[in-house]
Amino acid sequence: MVISENQIRKGDAEARVPKTLQIAIDGPAGAGKSTVAKKIADALEYLYIDTGAMYRAATWLVVQKGISFDDSDQVVKAVADSKIELRPGHDEEKILVFVNGEEVTKLIRSQNITKLVSKLAAIGAVREQLVNQQRHLALAGGVVLDGRDIGTVVLPDANVKIFLTASPAVRAKRRLKELQAAGENPDYDTLLKDIIERDQMDTNREIAPLRMADDAVLILSDKMSVDEVVAHIIKLCS
Ligand code: C5P
Repeated sequence: MVISENQIRKGDAEARVPKTLQIAIDGPAGAGKSTVAKKIADALEYLYIDTGAMYRAATWLVVQKGISFDDSDQVVKAVADSKIELRPGHDEEKILVFVNGEEVTKLIRSQNITKLVSKLAAIGAVREQLVNQQRHLALAGGVVLDGRDIGTVVLPDANVKIFLTASPAVRAKRRLKELQAAGENPDYDTLLKDIIERDQMDTNREIAPLRMADDAVLILSDKMSVDEVVAHIIKLCS
């Protein structure tokens, strides 16, 4: 009997997943989308596209240039004139983020960028540019994208659509643990307030608001482990 490499390396569910699916994972801040998306991409040998990182990178650029977020013309121009790239990373950092050739992977995770990013993400002409780039990256399939509007706007025909969420308290607790593990000492109440504020801005904006696609599968992860969520999504793909 000839055993293919796939059969050796992968579980049954993974082996049954076609190579070229588009998997869309949307949901609010801190729901664990990127952790889950990275694990799925690893298991299926898919490309992971972190669309939030693209909005964060654009925000970092605008802050660097000292442009006011109220001056949307200047913001749009700055993003249009720049090159935002996601490049494959290493074990520790699966994706590296570059703006005009400068690596900003860690810088875009600062609290300041996190506070400002929803302002930039509400500007339609900025979204248009980043959505075009995301569609281009996803064209060939074999991709997992996470964000807020993947199933509704970026890839309305995605093969698998997930809306991953958890209660705000659970999301804030997970963020707290993550940041503590990274050596930071954040305040729980501030994290909770920031998460609720960001959700409100993302949900109430006029263009491409955070919303579950009609044909998405809802996953409430309050009582699920990361691996349980991953296994559930992979099953939906096969
Ligand atoms: O996923 P992450 O928390 O890194 O996203 C940062 C911000 O980028 C979100 O709060 C949202 O304002 C914006 N975003 C978006 N559409 C996406 C991904 C992220 O508006 N597809």
